[in-house]
Amino acid sequence: MRSNRSRGTDPVRTDLHGITGSHLPTPLHIRVHLPDLLDTLRRVAALAPLQLAISCEQEILFPLHGQEHFFCGSLGNNELCDADCRAIFEGAFREATRDNRPLLFSCAAGLLYFVIPFRNDRNQHCCLFAGGVRDEAPELALLEKLSNAPSNDGGTLLEKLLRRPQIKRAQLEEILGKTLTLLTILADEQTLAQPLRGLTQRLATVAGAAAELDRAESGDAVLELLGETLILLFDLSRVVILSAEGEDFNLKVNLGTTSQATNCACGRLRELLGAHPDGKPLLLRQEVGEFFPEIDSDRAICAPLRSEGLDLGLAVIFDADLPGRDLLLLELLAGRAATKLHRLRLAALYQERQTSSRRLLTMLGELSLVETREVLYQRIVAMSCELLQAARGSLMLLDETGEWLRIVAARGINLEVAASIPLRLGEGIAGRVAKSGLHLLVTDIEKDSRVGIANRPRFQTKSFICVPLKAHDRIVGVLNLADKETGTTFGDDDLATLHQLIDQAALLIERVAVYENARKLEELAARDPLTGLYNRRMLEARFQEELSRCSRLKHHFTIMMLDLDHFKAYNDQCGHIAGDHALKKVALLLKKSAREMDIVTRYGGEEFCLLLPNTGKEEALFVAERIRRAIETEIFPGETALPTGRLTTSIGVACYPDDGEKFETLVNAADIALYQAKSKGRNRLASFEVVPPSLIKKTG
Ligand code: GH3
Ligand code: MG
Ligand code: MG
Repeated sequence: MRSNRSRGTDPVRTDLHGITGSHLPTPLHIRVHLPDLLDTLRRVAALAPLQLAISCEQEILFPLHGQEHFFCGSLGNNELCDADCRAIFEGAFREATRDNRPLLFSCAAGLLYFVIPFRNDRNQHCCLFAGGVRDEAPELALLEKLSNAPSNDGGTLLEKLLRRPQIKRAQLEEILGKTLTLLTILADEQTLAQPLRGLTQRLATVAGAAAELDRAESGDAVLELLGETLILLFDLSRVVILSAEGEDFNLKVNLGTTSQATNCACGRLRELLGAHPDGKPLLLRQEVGEFFPEIDSDRAICAPLRSEGLDLGLAVIFDADLPGRDLLLLELLAGRAATKLHRLRLAALYQERQTSSRRLLTMLGELSLVETREVLYQRIVAMSCELLQAARGSLMLLDETGEWLRIVAARGINLEVAASIPLRLGEGIAGRVAKSGLHLLVTDIEKDSRVGIANRPRFQTKSFICVPLKAHDRIVGVLNLADKETGTTFGDDDLATLHQLIDQAALLIERVAVYENARKLEELAARDPLTGLYNRRMLEARFQEELSRCSRLKHHFTIMMLDLDHFKAYNDQCGHIAGDHALKKVALLLKKSAREMDIVTRYGGEEFCLLLPNTGKEEALFVAERIRRAIETEIFPGETALPTGRLTTSIGVACYPDDGEKFETLVNAADIALYQAKSKGRNRLASFEVVPPSLIKKTG
């Protein structure tokens, strides 16, 4: 286990036979009652897994109960240690006190220890021993040696060794460093002015507070605990704790100052902290008023709450002069609070990211189900606002010319007003973003040189985001978001989150446009261009739907055929254009006289066909009569020239399933009825009756 390590500048690392490291500048004089010292050290979290003991003039004074394996040699015949161990510990004591430097060493059983030399109140040479931990698997050679020892059994020894806590050598060195700091605080010359017992109590308070800080569940709880601990520990009158949020420092804890809103010069404070990256407390004198204009004090101590190079806050103590040892305690506590704050912030950030990516997935799922473009646009704006906590948002899309942007959905803005003002591509903020395809994230509209305009009055904050929407590398529009509900500015994180949503949204916008165009084409293909009524193709499709429904449910429906009377004559008398007008008028009358559920189609020429769902013959004749009368009474220009003096219609009716079960059969039956109506003198109805096959007229 022993190895000769190379000499270096490492302050403490050593093996007993390869001692390296730096000497303490002066001996540490610790006048604290030694059992108290041990008790205090035992409360320090970092020392908890270690065995501790103090030795004075090589006498073991304070081994801890139940730790018989510790101080192997000195405690005599325990199972793990032998005379070799004793020699090692005595050697460590001699080396450490002679050279006045801490050492790290391993005993004959391979356990790691460190030793720190100091002087007690009688100026005797003393050492703090700490350790009894293992950092690697025991060597076989060592076990062999142990198992060969009389009355020892290798297996039991191995078990005992394995039960020792495992701490890496580097970690133990770190703990040594911390312990040295604590002992330095205790050894500070100024402690002489303080009641010694009080000091150890304060150390214990710090250790206790540190453990409490570790248990705190929120950033505010950490800061409150820190504030209270500082007040109690140093008997202070005024302490404020600021939390760093974005560029600002916000007051979180205010103990003892009368000021309601402690403003601070945030920019100057950041500069000050930036100039002192070591994290040590800073002493302010005449500058106090400059940094904290509302506080009347001639001195302040600022302890940065810094963790991993991040400034998370600041603890400010007014009116107090703390001695060096207390500044160290302050630094220790501030560091501990900062570490905890940092950890909480990272956890919150992780949680937030988790929640927002879950929400994002749900949103994308919801968006993909939307079928109409208006709803899709509104949802995109609403979801973007929700994701980024923006009070205002608008979606602008390029029109078909590709030259103009128009607002199609908005939140927090009057849509009608906004939509009426189109924006030319390349003009204004959104126009430029749409043209360049590059997003714009502005934290202060008045200061940003890319924008450089005064904040508009309807906006609460000066930060906004404008991002282009791209579908397959083609820009389709832009999304604007402004006024973060928290009052803060938008950041890169917001931008990244937003992109995840709108990159998909842009594709959906494109998709819904394609669908709608296809639907429009389909609709166009199903309608008669002159009257706008459905055409024969659509009639046939709806007939099949109705047929399958009614055959399943055993319902009936009716087909009604109409043919205008003497329409050729009307055309001849009044002209084709008047004829077209008359056809349009008839179409309107049919729509008006038919019921909502009826399907009205232009079958061809001056013939119309109606499909009446869920309607039997009797009811159908009732509707037919209403239609006949409506056309008869309607005034058509020039109709007086017709043989009857007015434009009229004849109507034939056939019903499913009585008169047929197929499209052709039923239409044919209705046509036969229509023929009967014509032959009986026109301007009348006829329902299909079984007639001799010789009378059946072919349709189409
Ligand atoms: P009836 O049905 O009473 O026996 O006499 P009719 O004069 O209406 O006879 P028929 O059905 O044979 O004539 C149909 C006429 O409708 C022929 C054509 O001039 C006219 N027509 C057909 N389609 C259109 C159209 O789209 N526009 C106009 N203006 N006329 C049309
Ligand atoms: Mg005809
Ligand atoms: Mg006709």
